[in-house]
Amino acid sequence: MIIRTAFRPLAFITLTLLVVGCASSPTGRSQFLLISPEAAILESEAAYLSTVGALDQEGKLVTDPKTMGRVSRITGRLVTVAEQNFPGSRDWQWSVAIIDDPETVNAWCMAGGRMALYTGLISQLELTDDELAQIMGHEISHALANHTAERMSRAMATTIGVVAVGVAADNSGAAMAGAALLANVALELPNSRIAETEADTIGMELATRAGYDPEAAVTLWQKMGSLNDQRPPEFLSTHPEPENRQAALQRQIPSMLALNPTRTKAPITEIEIVR
Ligand SMILES: [Zn+2]
Repeated sequence: MIIRTAFRPLAFITLTLLVVGCASSPTGRSQFLLISPEAAILESEAAYLSTVGALDQEGKLVTDPKTMGRVSRITGRLVTVAEQNFPGSRDWQWSVAIIDDPETVNAWCMAGGRMALYTGLISQLELTDDELAQIMGHEISHALANHTAERMSRAMATTIGVVAVGVAADNSGAAMAGAALLANVALELPNSRIAETEADTIGMELATRAGYDPEAAVTLWQKMGSLNDQRPPEFLSTHPEPENRQAALQRQIPSMLALNPTRTKAPITEIEIVR
């Protein structure tokens, strides 16, 4: 890496986004972060816009009103509960892109609330609304619990990360590209098993408070597991199974049911459906 002695405001700004420090996940676990949650949100925006822009150009964004309505109702309720329980997420730019790709079983939520959902997830697993709420609740929880920043920190620690930061220090255009690259690399990296357990619990709570059946978390993972016998879905490569996932989810059902015994549906927050 080239060391530059002249003061460069843009490089300075980039470097202030990078912090070495500790944060706490919502479950109280300490997280070692090379990039702050705020920077992760900023960089995720650039990655999201380029990813979704490319899909739009290929005509791969779903515009069918029925699917859009279903996804916006479910995610809108989850967002209402997320904002109630995690006030920091109230100024997030919540949005969801529904990607027309029946072969891909995947969904994700970046830092800052930008989500994507592949049609293969719904069609191949024949998801009910309750199961769809569980999976999106799980994804949103990864973002709420700073797991994106954790994965970006891990990406930075790799060679690709070092190159990206090297580029980032050089000029502003490349800085954005380099940082967005980090966000993209982070999307491909598996979460840790600890992060999975956190997202399982927080996601189940979000979905239950939003009015969806907590039992669906168990059936969702059963369906995912049986699909794995034929062909491992992309989703499972980024969501490794924590130990005894299904048993752990099952154990939490009674306490989840107590959170919303009447299964009252939460109000729907209007979020952007990208198209
Ligand atoms: Zn996960």
